[in-house]
Amino acid sequence: MHGGIIVGYQTMDSERLLYDINELNHLFRGSASVETLLNKAVETVAERTQSAVCSIYLYNSEKRELTLRATRGLNPESVGRVRLKLGRGLTGQALQEMRTICVSDASRSPNYQFFPGIFEERYNAFLAVPMARGLSRMGVLVLQRDSDHCFSPSDITALETVASQLVHIIENAQFLIGIHETPAEPAKAVPAGLKFVKGKKAAEGFAYAPAMVREKQKSLALLASHDPGKTYTIEDFHDAVARTERQLEQLQEQVEHKLSDAASLIFAAHLMILKDRDFIGKVVEMIQAGGNALEAVVEVATGYMRNFLKSDSDYMREKANDIEDLAIRLVNNLVSKDDETSAHNAHIVVTRGLFPSDLLKLSSEGASGVVLVGGGATSHISILARSLSMPMVIADNHDLLNVPDGTPLLIDAEMGNLFVDPDDEVLEKFWARQRARLTLADQKKLMKPETTTADGVRVRLMANINLLTDLKVATELNCDGVGLYRTEFPFIIRTTFPSEAEQYVIYRKLVESMPDKPVTFRTLDAGGDKILSYYHDIREQNPALGMRSIRFSLQNKPIFAEQVRAILRAGAAARLRIMFPMISSLDELHEAKEVVRESIELLTQQGIEHNAAPSLGMMVELPAAAELAEEFAREVDFFSIGTNDLIQFMLATDRTNEAVADFYLPHHPAVLRTLNRIARAALKHNCELSLCGDMAHQTQYMPFLLGIGIRTFSVDPIFLLRTQQAIKATSVKDAEALAQAMLSKSRICEIAALLPAPPASAAQ
Ligand code: PEP
Ligand code: MG
Repeated sequence: MHGGIIVGYQTMDSERLLYDINELNHLFRGSASVETLLNKAVETVAERTQSAVCSIYLYNSEKRELTLRATRGLNPESVGRVRLKLGRGLTGQALQEMRTICVSDASRSPNYQFFPGIFEERYNAFLAVPMARGLSRMGVLVLQRDSDHCFSPSDITALETVASQLVHIIENAQFLIGIHETPAEPAKAVPAGLKFVKGKKAAEGFAYAPAMVREKQKSLALLASHDPGKTYTIEDFHDAVARTERQLEQLQEQVEHKLSDAASLIFAAHLMILKDRDFIGKVVEMIQAGGNALEAVVEVATGYMRNFLKSDSDYMREKANDIEDLAIRLVNNLVSKDDETSAHNAHIVVTRGLFPSDLLKLSSEGASGVVLVGGGATSHISILARSLSMPMVIADNHDLLNVPDGTPLLIDAEMGNLFVDPDDEVLEKFWARQRARLTLADQKKLMKPETTTADGVRVRLMANINLLTDLKVATELNCDGVGLYRTEFPFIIRTTFPSEAEQYVIYRKLVESMPDKPVTFRTLDAGGDKILSYYHDIREQNPALGMRSIRFSLQNKPIFAEQVRAILRAGAAARLRIMFPMISSLDELHEAKEVVRESIELLTQQGIEHNAAPSLGMMVELPAAAELAEEFAREVDFFSIGTNDLIQFMLATDRTNEAVADFYLPHHPAVLRTLNRIARAALKHNCELSLCGDMAHQTQYMPFLLGIGIRTFSVDPIFLLRTQQAIKATSVKDAEALAQAMLSKSRICEIAALLPAPPASAAQ
């Protein structure tokens, strides 16, 4: 069929040309960027057609503009820079009219457009063939020669055939790497109407900073296409590796300094990959075989990620994430000599998903806030963000991912609001509220040394500690001790179980910061949404109801016993309290207590210093535990009510699912009556009673909680002052009357009508 094309024209090897173009399709499978493909295409076509110049222009239909994307023969610097509106120049005309244009003296043509510096004026024989798919314009393929070698009709037919082949290849390439935009300059604009998004708060606070959209796969592809035509050598690569290593070591140091408990080795995975001979070796091999360093990094990283992403395990997928982070850092270091350690410095990061380790990285890199698009935040992500003082909102609006980087964003995570490029009026209100916010020093001044109700009843106000960084505020505000230390965080962040020695060091720091005050260690509450990526390999259909918490500990006794030993040793001289999470039966409780007893016995035998008489308590957070509250109260020294889970399980409402947030009601009559029942059981049996769920800092519930007799609360340190003030504003006498009234109602709406108004949140 192509015979007709070839016959009659000596210089063009059309058959060979078509063969080579088809080969490009195969070539592309192993290639990482459209640019590579286009560069190979222009090389091949120029060579086989014996043309001095071959260029490919791609069309952007939104801008109605053609951009030079690859050339052989013109100034390579002009790639990405030469742009033509549809209809402008001979090339634009070919696409507008969707017809081939062939002229022997291009510069004399009325529609000729001169671009200084691209050196095309020497080539007067000009052939432009439009590339289209159906009715959609895709670009133009252009050949140029000097005027002594004009194009023949068979050249035209051959080039038209080649152009139609190229359309398929380019389309496949664009599809495969997901770039439909011109990569050199992604033309993003704030999506229309996107000024205000009502989201959900995940961690309180405000932030006003430029956006940085974290769509990593996309950014890797974009980086890969950076500076097409520019070659990075093996020296550039080694230099980039060295600088990446330095930056990572620096970050690791910073993060260890700031978050000694949770951040151990957080950048270690990156450093390890960087030193992995296989990874580096593959990149070096590709460069030595003639590849560009930039493409080699992207290609090798993409291969690794693909393998990791195939896995069912969160741990492996987290590894893919690490590889991607590292590749982005490496590529950035290749293309820029700027030694920027903190990629997210003072930005609000807009992202689809986050691992706990991501949050720590963002925090140590100086991010100002996070917008989590779609999907709820797992409870430990929110808790972690709070401890890191990282304002975070969850917004179910995917348009946010299209906000151009650098767009000013205002996060009001007190309300869950998000403003895109806020106007002066919004900003003025924001600054006014910022000015009114209390600093730690202000809070310290306002905090009373003792917490009492309006009628003088003493209340204990303790702190929930998630990361050791929480201790600063807790100690400055002189809390009455630690009511809940969530030991899972050092477990969640690490890549394997922390050893007894590691745990001991962390626990010791906690105990030492609270001399003479009770410190409550909750044993590992892993599972559910607090996944240990290195352990929870099997995907559970209902992780909230799965192998979690105390069940996990009892099923993994050596791990449990190690933790208990570390706690007993660290708390040798402390007012130590050990608390078991998610207890559902007396049998479980006995088994857990037995592990403590055995550990004490062993430590005594070994002559190791430890606490031989810790108070033993349990979280009351399952309906089953509430039902058996009387029996449990006889067997433990203290109860701590975990309303976060209790509400979730009583009302069958996922605490992390935004879609059912309206059903998650602390003031549901069944919840209130259950709380009352637990309190009655504890008081009857002289079992110490406290409440450590979020309900404790939601001040509208404080009168009810005081009214049913709870006198100890444990809240995140940032809520200590607010909670103390709510207690101070309540008299027990009034609270008891109100609680009785609330308990007598059967309908949610009737109870809601009795609830005091929540504190005036700052207005929008
Ligand atoms: C609770 O469930 O209320 C609680 C305090 O524990 P966590 O939020 O860690 O599950
Ligand atoms: Mg809980």
